[in-house]
Amino acid sequence: MTAIERDTPFVWVTWLTKLMSGEDNCRWSSWFKAHHKYDKLPSDFDLTQWTAEHSQLVHRRANELESEGCGVRIEDENQFYLTGRDGITTLSGKPDIVAVRGDYVLVEDCKTGKPRNSDQMQVLIYMLVLTLVKPELAGKTIHGSLFYKDYPQIEIEPDAVNSDFIGVFQEVMEAVKGGDPCRKVPSYRECQFCDIGTDYCAERVDEEPLAVAATEHDLF
Ligand code: SF4
Repeated sequence: MTAIERDTPFVWVTWLTKLMSGEDNCRWSSWFKAHHKYDKLPSDFDLTQWTAEHSQLVHRRANELESEGCGVRIEDENQFYLTGRDGITTLSGKPDIVAVRGDYVLVEDCKTGKPRNSDQMQVLIYMLVLTLVKPELAGKTIHGSLFYKDYPQIEIEPDAVNSDFIGVFQEVMEAVKGGDPCRKVPSYRECQFCDIGTDYCAERVDEEPLAVAATEHDLF
């Protein structure tokens, strides 16, 4: 199978978040996606069930926020494409919920799984770019939130979008959109969830490593 090179770099927000949080280390995966279209490996993830649960959660929260007096937009209504200062790179994402009441603006993502630091990175990126991609929100303060199906809600204050966060975002974004391939870090832990097959990544690790049966040591 042959990968088709994209004309210009394209970066989906969730290709950055686990790299930014340190949950994943294989930057090559995101770099490859940013620069190529390719045939993805099939996944046994139950997308139908996830979509149904996630959609229910989003609609429930949208109704709650509307009952509190907010104007609410969900899912595809919120999709954005932001061109970088290089004029060619596109950053795209889709916050689950954007709620507005007067000067109060909330961007919220709904999650059906366990809380992860990358969830917070995702909402922080939305908070960072929202006033750029929605000119009608310019000048307003953006609040963030993660609403979990089975865990307590996490609220993210506007000042969490600080220079440290922006620095991490810019460093990872520059690497992923750049012309030089990023470091490849093959490991079973990451490769088992990666949809890039061996046609494109010969170093892919599909077997769980076995413990080394060393016998001649007294370390422990
Ligand atoms: S298969 Fe593994 S090494 Fe290859 S891009 Fe994916 S995560 Fe990286």
